[in-house]
Amino acid sequence: MIFPNNVEIIEVGPRDGLQNEKKFVSTERKKELIRLLASTGVNRIETASFVHPKVLPQMADAQEIVAYCNELGIPYMALTPNRKALELAIEAKVPQIAVFVGASETFNEQNIRRSIHDSLQECSEIFAMAKQHGLFIRGYVSMCFSCPYEGPIQYSQVKRVVRSFIDGRVDEISIGDTNGQANPRIVFERFQQLQMDFPTTTWVGHFHDTNGLALANIIAAMQAGVTKFDASIGGLGGCPFSPGATGNVATESVVKMLHEMNIETGLDLQKLQQAKDYAVSLL
Ligand code: MG
Repeated sequence: MIFPNNVEIIEVGPRDGLQNEKKFVSTERKKELIRLLASTGVNRIETASFVHPKVLPQMADAQEIVAYCNELGIPYMALTPNRKALELAIEAKVPQIAVFVGASETFNEQNIRRSIHDSLQECSEIFAMAKQHGLFIRGYVSMCFSCPYEGPIQYSQVKRVVRSFIDGRVDEISIGDTNGQANPRIVFERFQQLQMDFPTTTWVGHFHDTNGLALANIIAAMQAGVTKFDASIGGLGGCPFSPGATGNVATESVVKMLHEMNIETGLDLQKLQQAKDYAVSLL
């Protein structure tokens, strides 16, 4: 088995986690959550989305949140699903941006009301503009293993989106098990195939714990050489457009497991516990 010495955890709770909460979490409380997360020593936090407030009211305070992140001086990332969003992010001095496209055509249509082809086209414009401004770019591929509408997802479907992201010179690609249906074998094989086809790309594993397999999937991805994982404090978040999908894998569970395996994350478990208690109190 392969056990790396270090793993990078990317905290996605304040965005991926909270965006699915129906009840609006006040800006002050979001800031406090971000402050607590930053104090854990986490390398990066996904904190906001510049999606239109009508689509995602929970993220309507993106400007204020990123201003706070700039004040804290923490490395963070914000979602910019379209050109308008990117313009706002640039104006707000966001250092890292993220876009997402589904590997499943039906999911993409349901989620962003657009075909994969059109999404990729808009992404390539976003990438070009973001590069001009020297931003770090993350590409998320959603539904990389299975889809609530289409069932099993073929590798060729994932590869199509990945290739387009790589052509756009993204800095890292997060491979999402958005509905939490992956198992360790498919995770291992898919990452192995991706590494073979795109050996210089930086990969991130994004797992959901719907079937209780997220930790096992992380270990499987590690065996294929992946050392970066998204996780959400308290397991916050699912996906509002993906029926039945429960939360992201919980940061505190991932970190506890890794530390017990003598794999460094740089995170302080005690501080993580405080952040978790606060996150849970928001719901
Ligand atoms: Mg997620």
